[in-house]
Amino acid sequence: MKTLPKAVYPGSFDPLHNGHLDVIERISGMFDEVTVTVFVNASKTALFSADERTAMVKAATEHIPNLHVDQSQDLLVRYVRQIGARVIVRGLRAVLDFDYEFQFALMNKRMAPDIDTLFILTSEHYSYLSSTIVKELASYGADVADLVPPACQRRLIEKFGVGKRLERDGE
Ligand code: ADP
Repeated sequence: MKTLPKAVYPGSFDPLHNGHLDVIERISGMFDEVTVTVFVNASKTALFSADERTAMVKAATEHIPNLHVDQSQDLLVRYVRQIGARVIVRGLRAVLDFDYEFQFALMNKRMAPDIDTLFILTSEHYSYLSSTIVKELASYGADVADLVPPACQRRLIEKFGVGKRLERDGE
């Protein structure tokens, strides 16, 4: 199978969750090289610092050989060009993501016609998953072990306290 050279998967990853990881694993089989880049967005308040977010992505992706992890505060298309990539990968969960992603991709295309955005659809079982929901659950002390890689779970526990399993009838 022919693979494409280089792609960038940008995001806030605040924190990385299993839906992101699924995208990363799938695209690393499609490109020779993938760079996951934690972007620092001044208009978004993050729970984790850029260094913490980067460390979590690194810990969760150690098993992927053709993957680089980076962080940036630059304009996305300028960054992509600077590292010699031509493709930006973005994930789509539902129609809800589409409006914003469409606008973002077209604006990027206008600024950098040589760079394309490739959309990859979420796997069905991660379609409900977002960093926001993970943080909300963790803030109530709920166990998020099934939703995030172990390194992220540890950091969430450090921020919010021990994750508790919900008690079910008879338990
Ligand atoms: P951003 O702040 O740039 O949207 P996120 O960390 O929230 O950063 O998301 C990074 C990328 O991962 C985005 O393209 C987003 O649509 C995608 N993504 C988020 N959650 C999922 C999921 N559950 N399945 C597939 N893609 C996802």
